[in-house]
Amino acid sequence: EFQANKITDIGPPKYDEMWPQVIKDNYGKWLYHDILEPGVLVHVSESGAKVWSLRCGATRLMTTMFLEQVCKLADEYCGGFFRFTTRNNIEFIVSDESKLEPLKKALADNGALPLGGTGAGVTNIVHTQGWVHCHTPAIDASGVVKAVMDELFDYFNSHKLPAQVRISLACCLNMCGAVHCSDISILGVHRKPPVIEHSHLDKMCEIPTTIAACPTAAIKPNKVDEFKSVAVNADRCMFCGNCYTMCPAMPLADAAGDGIALWVGGKVSNAKSMPMFSKLAVPYIPNEPPRWPTTVNTIKKIVEVYAGDAMKYERVGEWAQRIGWEKFFEKTGLEFSHHHIDDYRFAATTWRTSTQFKW
Ligand code: SF4
Ligand code: SF4
Repeated sequence: EFQANKITDIGPPKYDEMWPQVIKDNYGKWLYHDILEPGVLVHVSESGAKVWSLRCGATRLMTTMFLEQVCKLADEYCGGFFRFTTRNNIEFIVSDESKLEPLKKALADNGALPLGGTGAGVTNIVHTQGWVHCHTPAIDASGVVKAVMDELFDYFNSHKLPAQVRISLACCLNMCGAVHCSDISILGVHRKPPVIEHSHLDKMCEIPTTIAACPTAAIKPNKVDEFKSVAVNADRCMFCGNCYTMCPAMPLADAAGDGIALWVGGKVSNAKSMPMFSKLAVPYIPNEPPRWPTTVNTIKKIVEVYAGDAMKYERVGEWAQRIGWEKFFEKTGLEFSHHHIDDYRFAATTWRTSTQFKW
């Protein structure tokens, strides 16, 4: 009996416990949705029932005071129902149409919850931990995202782009963000092998595990003075930071070496064309906190050239493929260099597929 009653799953409650009644009543019956204006969607069921979702931009790291404001708005206008999207937007779920306009006014009065992020615009940037939390970032996450979104805000609460532009950020190539498949991706890159702190490595790290953690087999055992340690073959190292995850005595963050690579043209959707991997656009931009001007201006330039040149409904990658990648570099003024070229000669006989341009 004890075993039968034992709670073993302490994860979040089942999702349908948190649905508004109209969603429960119409489960499996939703026919379509329309975007009424930037940030406002109506979802229509075959029973005729409707529910509205109001999408607002928000930050990824939120204070409890801010969340209290969100909960109060949800209590007053939505019977307590709201949700977070995967891109850290907040969506208020409105079941009562008479609450729609009052909620829009309340959001405008609040000022910190701008409506938008739908349709042919730029929605919130999906991003990773950055300097705030993770141990292997080459760049910050929240700081870069804030600087970029401040500049692109006009595209957040409007539908003036040819299609949606999904931007993502991962602060290292472990890639907790969606940088492999976004219209524009910001990727933190390390460019130097780890530093080895020989004097305390064997006290902090398991040497066999550290060696095994390296995907390119660049690490081997070593002895330095009286210390058992490791050596790194720098020519084999791809600066991934896996060893540092295993062994804190092998840091690879480097103020001068770390920075940003920009990728473009990826998408998850299979509408109109197959899903695509992002391709390398800019191999390296130095870290420039607090406002990352080179990164921000480069992204803005890509978005503006795309906005002026692409056909309606064409995603960034579809546009670049139609005009040709050579033209993409020409029109955006980005330099094309040897970093963009993959000349890995065994690609045809291995599983390796490339996001670089084939030589
Ligand atoms: Fe950490 Fe890398 Fe993930 Fe960023 S992308 S949160 S640095 S593992
Ligand atoms: Fe190996 Fe990556 Fe460490 Fe380089 S950074 S030594 S490739 S685990």
